[in-house]
Amino acid sequence: MNRRSISTPSRTKEILEQYGLRAKKNFGQNFLVDPQIVERCAQMSHCEGAVIEIGPGIGGLTEQLAKNSKHVTAYEIDENLIPVLKDVLSDYDNVEILLQDFMECDLDQKVKELEETYGSVAVCANLPYYITTPVLFRVFECPSISYITVMVQKEVGDRFAAKPSDPEYSALSAEGQYLFDVKKLFTVPGRSFNPSPNVDSVIIQFSRKDTSLSKEDLKAFFDLVRGCFKQRRKTIYNNLREYLQDADRAKEVLEKAGIDGSQRAQQLSVDNLRKIYEELA
Ligand code: SAM
Repeated sequence: MNRRSISTPSRTKEILEQYGLRAKKNFGQNFLVDPQIVERCAQMSHCEGAVIEIGPGIGGLTEQLAKNSKHVTAYEIDENLIPVLKDVLSDYDNVEILLQDFMECDLDQKVKELEETYGSVAVCANLPYYITTPVLFRVFECPSISYITVMVQKEVGDRFAAKPSDPEYSALSAEGQYLFDVKKLFTVPGRSFNPSPNVDSVIIQFSRKDTSLSKEDLKAFFDLVRGCFKQRRKTIYNNLREYLQDADRAKEVLEKAGIDGSQRAQQLSVDNLRKIYEELA
């Protein structure tokens, strides 16, 4: 049967009515109702092996991922959506729907299994806005996931993509860009969602770089980065002095790293932050 895409406004409305559903604010539910955007997002996501989706909702993006990928694993927290997803996606035998809070799943184990069976694992999702950053950092920690393509609120996308000296440049930008090339793919207006949020969203793509730090070293590096950005108006010297609780050591480390201590962290490239970390290590 040639059905309309789930993400057309009319089909989404029908599904919501048929199952007596309302978007739940506490789960960050805003369903995408723009088939072109959903198709483009899936097609650009490098999902040809296996793909993990966080929050399939009523399956609009899941359907397009299923068309482009060998296997889709979708984690959904809302139990009321599970029968809907099983029903609307019943034509696809490559979709696995899991009723689970993504923050509590055993991601390493799942990625290992998927990689062994399908060769590669990507992430593609329209993320619930209330846990965007923790979800992303969970995924960042899985080195086998090379591509992450996500819809986030524009403000969050701007922070991840900001360059040194941009007003939005922060610890988040530096951490993300240490691990990934970060690209904004396109903007999605509020009217492309049901219900429409007041803000625009953006689709960003993280493409993993080759980095050498182990999980533990990475945590230590990110701790240092957060320390350097702790008080944005203070100089890097002052923030580092507080982070290390040692003024002489802070001065010495900055000198050895060749960094002018009177700058603010906001002016430092990811490479400069890494130099500070290496001097400390
Ligand atoms: N993918 C759908 C779309 O694009 O139309 C829905 C996206 S909606 C912004 C976010 C989805 O994430 C909702 O279905 C919500 O129930 C789900 N969700 C929220 N918190 C979650 C969590 N911790 N784990 C898994 N899914 C979650």
